[in-house]
Amino acid sequence: MNLAHDPKLTRADHSEEIGFYEKRKGVFPRGSDGPFRRLKWAIMAFCLIVYWGTPWLRWNRGPYAPDQAVLVDLAHRRFYMFQIEIWPHEFYFVAGLLIMAGIGLFLVTSAVGRAWCGYACPQTVWTDLFQHVDRLIDGDRNAQIRLQNAPWTPAKIARRTFKWGVYLAISFLTGGAWIFYFADAPTLQREFWTGTAAPVAYATTAVLTFTTFWLGGFMREQVCIYMCPWPRIQTAMLDERSLTVTYKDWRGEPRGSVKAAAKRAEQGLDPLGDCIDCKQCIAVCPTGIDIREGPQIGCITCALCIDACDKAMADVGRPRGLIDYFTLEDADKVKRGEAPTPVLRTIFRPRTLVYFGVWAGIGVAMLFLLGSRTRLDLSVAKDRNPEYVMLSKGEVRNGFTVKLRNMEDRPRPVTLSIDGLPGGAIFTDEMDAALARTVLSVEVPADTTKRMRVYAIVPKGAKPAEFLFQIKALDKEGGQDSVRTTFTTAEGNGQ
Ligand code: SF4
Ligand code: SF4
Repeated sequence: MNLAHDPKLTRADHSEEIGFYEKRKGVFPRGSDGPFRRLKWAIMAFCLIVYWGTPWLRWNRGPYAPDQAVLVDLAHRRFYMFQIEIWPHEFYFVAGLLIMAGIGLFLVTSAVGRAWCGYACPQTVWTDLFQHVDRLIDGDRNAQIRLQNAPWTPAKIARRTFKWGVYLAISFLTGGAWIFYFADAPTLQREFWTGTAAPVAYATTAVLTFTTFWLGGFMREQVCIYMCPWPRIQTAMLDERSLTVTYKDWRGEPRGSVKAAAKRAEQGLDPLGDCIDCKQCIAVCPTGIDIREGPQIGCITCALCIDACDKAMADVGRPRGLIDYFTLEDADKVKRGEAPTPVLRTIFRPRTLVYFGVWAGIGVAMLFLLGSRTRLDLSVAKDRNPEYVMLSKGEVRNGFTVKLRNMEDRPRPVTLSIDGLPGGAIFTDEMDAALARTVLSVEVPADTTKRMRVYAIVPKGAKPAEFLFQIKALDKEGGQDSVRTTFTTAEGNGQ
C-alpha cells in the first residue's frame, strides 16, 4: 500500500506510519581485493601524499618571494603555485581554475558517473581510510558486527578507546596539514609546537580535526546520502548514456544459490539466473546498499561490488561482469537482444566532447593569459573630494592615488609620465610642487605594489581634459602600462 496516497490517513498517521527519521544501520564493509580495489588504493595513496606532502615542497623564486611551492599567502595577498604567482588583481585565474574544476566534474560525471564520489572525494578517501583502520583493529566484517553487538566490557572499552585514538590522530594530521598551505610550513610547524603560532592556526586545526573525526569516523555514508548536494546535482548531468555501476538483472534473475539451482535442474524447472545470492556485493559496499535493487543515491560508484561479484562468478565458473559499468541505454539494448555500444563511443560522445571542449578552451585561454600577462601594472584612482583645488595663482590641481605594481622578483627603475594634458605637470607629495614635470623617475621594489600620492597641475584657464598616466620600465626587459583618467577644473563644474 502506498501510505503517502491513502486518503483515509491523516497527517499524524503519515508521520507515525512512515516516520521522518530512520536510525542508521551500521555499515561494516568487508575487506576486498580486485582491480577496482587496487585502483582505489592507488588513488587514495596519491590523494593523501599530495595533500600531506604539497606544503613541504620547496620552489626557489629568488630572495624576494617565499620558497614554498604552493602557498596561499593571505598576509601579502598572493597565491603561489610553483612558477606561477597570482596577485589579487589577477583573481580571475583562480576563478578560471574553479570553473575548470566544475566543468571537469561535469565531464567526468557525464562520462563515468560518480567517479569523483567513488574515488577522489575527500569524504570517500577519509571514510575508506577509517574503514581500513576498523578492519585492522576490530577485524573484518563479522568480527566488527560481533564487537558492535557485544556488551561494554573493559576489553571492548579498551579497543574502542584505542581505535578512536587512531581516528583522532589521523584527524589531527588532516586538520593540521591544512594550515601549512597558508604559511611557510617549516616555520609554522615550529611555531605551532612552541605555542607561538597565530590563534587562527590552532582554531583551524581544532575545527578540521573535529570535522574529520566526526564525518569520516562516524557519519561516513550518511554524508553522501543525506548531507552532500552533489548526488542531487549530478542527476542533471547523468543521462541514459552515462556509465554507472549496474546489476544486470536480465542475466542475474531469478537469483538463487548454487544448491537451489542444482535442485531446480533435478526437478526439470527453468534454470535460475547467474546471481548466486551470496550477498558479497552488499558485504563489501562502503555505503551498505544492495545494488541489485537498481540505481540508488547511496551508490557512490566505487565499483567494489564489481570486484566482489567477479570473484563470486569466478568461484562458480561463470563469466565476469554480472555487476559492471554499463549504461541504461545499453541495458535496454541488451534486453532487446541488440549489441551494446562500444565503450569508447559511450565515453567520447557529443555531450562529453562539448564539456571537454569548454574545459580545454578555458585552460588554453588561461595559459595564453598567463604567458602574455604584463609584469608591470599601473592603477590610478582620482580624488573625488575635493575633485580639484584652485591654487593662489589660478593654477588648478587634481590629486590621484597611483599604484605601481612590480611583479618581478627584482627592483625595477621606471618612469611615471603624463600625456595629453596641455601645459600639465605632475609631482608627488614627497616633492616640492615647483619641481613638477611631465616625467618622474621612480624605483619600484621587487614583488611590490608602490602606492604614491601624485598631483597633476595645469596653468590658469585650462579646460577639463582626458589624459594618460603611463608607466615604462627602464631596464632591458622593458614593459609598460597606461591608464586613462580625467582632469577636472572649475570650468567643467559650471563655475
Ligand atoms: S553499490 Fe557497488 S559501486 Fe555502489 S557504493 Fe556499493 S560497492 Fe560501491
Ligand atoms: S556478488 Fe554477484 S552473485 Fe553475489 S549476490 Fe551480489 S550480484 Fe549476486
